[in-house]
Amino acid sequence: MDIKELKGVGDKTAEMFNRLSVYTVDDLVGLYPRDYDVYEEPVFINELNDEYVGNVVSIEAVVAGRPDVFRKGKLSIITVNIRDINGGTLKCKWYNMPYLSSSLKMGMRYIFRARLAQEKNKSFLFEQPQMYTIAKYNELMGSMQPIYPLTKGLTNNAVTKAIKQALDIYSGTLRKEFIPMHIRGRYELAEHNYAVNTIHFPQSFEEYALARKRLAFEEFFLFVLAVRSLKNSNERLPNGFVIQHDIRTQEFMGKLPFELTGAQQRAFDEIKENMVSDKLMSRLIQGDVGSGKTIVAVLALMNTAFAGYQGAMMVPTEVLAKQQYESTVALFDKLDIKLNVSLLTGSMTAAQKRAEYEKIASGEADIIIGTHALIQEKVEYKNLALVITDEQHRFGVNQRKELAGKGIAPPHILVMSATPIPRTLAIIVYGDLDISVIDELPANRLPIKNCVVDESYRETAYKFITSQVDAGRQVYIICPMVEESENMDAENVVDYTAKLKEVLPANIRTAYLHGKMKAKEKNEIMSSYAVGEIDVLVSTTVIEVGVNVPNATVMMVENAERFGLAQLHQLRGRVGRGEHQSYCIFMSGNKSKKTKERLEILNKTNDGFKIAEEDLKLRGPGDFFGVRQSGEMDFGIADIYTDSRVLKIAADSAQEVLDDDPFFEKEDNRYLAEKVAVYTRKCMEKINL
Ligand code: ADP
Ligand code: MG
Repeated sequence: MDIKELKGVGDKTAEMFNRLSVYTVDDLVGLYPRDYDVYEEPVFINELNDEYVGNVVSIEAVVAGRPDVFRKGKLSIITVNIRDINGGTLKCKWYNMPYLSSSLKMGMRYIFRARLAQEKNKSFLFEQPQMYTIAKYNELMGSMQPIYPLTKGLTNNAVTKAIKQALDIYSGTLRKEFIPMHIRGRYELAEHNYAVNTIHFPQSFEEYALARKRLAFEEFFLFVLAVRSLKNSNERLPNGFVIQHDIRTQEFMGKLPFELTGAQQRAFDEIKENMVSDKLMSRLIQGDVGSGKTIVAVLALMNTAFAGYQGAMMVPTEVLAKQQYESTVALFDKLDIKLNVSLLTGSMTAAQKRAEYEKIASGEADIIIGTHALIQEKVEYKNLALVITDEQHRFGVNQRKELAGKGIAPPHILVMSATPIPRTLAIIVYGDLDISVIDELPANRLPIKNCVVDESYRETAYKFITSQVDAGRQVYIICPMVEESENMDAENVVDYTAKLKEVLPANIRTAYLHGKMKAKEKNEIMSSYAVGEIDVLVSTTVIEVGVNVPNATVMMVENAERFGLAQLHQLRGRVGRGEHQSYCIFMSGNKSKKTKERLEILNKTNDGFKIAEEDLKLRGPGDFFGVRQSGEMDFGIADIYTDSRVLKIAADSAQEVLDDDPFFEKEDNRYLAEKVAVYTRKCMEKINL
């Protein structure tokens, strides 16, 4: 059923929903809240202190005077003081809401609710507070109101209404349960329909937790079943491409400006062993950011090329593809390696692509680097023997099948990932891949210096950035996230950059990058940054993966408190990649001790999984809404860190089902089999963007 069939959803609204990948009523029901608003007990004004700044608070108070209405340029501003029962007063301020003055008569009593701000003179301020009658507030208190992912023009209210309608429709036609009853019983998993309803409108935290557990289980369960069934079809393929270690690769290694770390050497040895064995390679290289996975991949590609075959490396973004391509070509030029490297990305012109297709088909291209364009229909390889997916997720192995479908013998597969997960979980998530771990950083690295600061440090931070740029270094700034909607981040980056330009010295070259920019623009910005033509790059988290600019030494993250620590750790990995001392500045928009403590975990350890674990320990229940730990492993609601226990039981359960009925032949498992098939297809679509 199309979402347009819902009341109040016309073409225009439907289009906005489409931007959130919601097309059908079914999709809409699957649009889970990204957070919840909890209406807490009001506090007294004289209780407020620095730690409240940046947090939402409610205050019961009366309007303590006549509102002041004035204009500032295009803005109309209202301010008024409110006073509570203890006599504390607080200034409230609204922009462009002149009609409010009629509700702000002296003596009128409301609950005012806003994020607490602080003026330059340190006094507290309520900006744009919401006002509730006492009765209405009492009704809301303790409940959890869903906050949905939004897109420009779409309000939370509109989404909430549409979802209510959708759930009503569904309550008439309950969907079938597909998790076997005995498994649900054993792990106390809620029923599917209940969980879906409750995740949207939980009445309490307990209800929410129950619903979330069920839905996370469900995702992992289907995921593991999908991976395991793929595994069965991929297992133990004979090696059609025996590739020996080449003396030229060995010589190249000797001429590199650095020596491989022990861990890199081990990973490469394991690859070499796989490639000469009688079975095809299916290997995961797991190594933290900056551990040097790329060079290992390049060595494998060289051996393949010297053996007379082609090797391809697929990366998730155009920016990264271009960068990998350029650095590989430069390295080959410098060390006199006569191999032809091709680049293939979606944004190339038709003529450019055609030229590359020809080189690939004729075998002139030895190594091909690119995005998903690499496995598009029009590409024909002469003899592709190795496919590497860098910073790519779990379905790498399945792409082998796609290539096989094009009449090509199945190649060796190497998957590289920086998602730090313990081996026990990696075995589940990566299915049938053998695992090499690069658990050692190159020796020339100076540990990154971190600091957690608040707004009052901003000026100092900008001064520091200026001094680093003067010393010839480069800087990343991760822009604040927009709370209302991730899709508004783009505008935010543009605004932030404009403001930054005003405060930084004019000679500092600033640019921005965000996900909504055209691939070509992004490539241009990233290339200029890589060659040092840009000093300060303001960006959303799009630069999170893979980018390597060793001259960049400062990473400043705005609103750091809103990120999962594991994600901050990945961001931090963009600096500290060269010989210079690097710095990470986590700017927190709130001064609470807890936030500070949480961010300080990043100082204690460099192990991404430990970081995520510590983070969980420190957060209380209900404290971790909306914070995604893993950027790379993208599930709907589940998170491999936050829900690692659920992942384990889901994997055990999936195995139990498969042991009992490996090919889903039992009547009872019919519906489950359908679900798995749909899930597998969905995942495949995701990777074929
Ligand atoms: P990642 O594992 O995050 O993909 P990269 O492969 O991009 O890391 O490597 C990060 C940087 O470290 C690159 O500039 C690379 O040239 C350098 N590097 C890789 N291996 C070594 C090594 N053994 N010694 C010194 N530097 C290295
Ligand atoms: Mg990398």
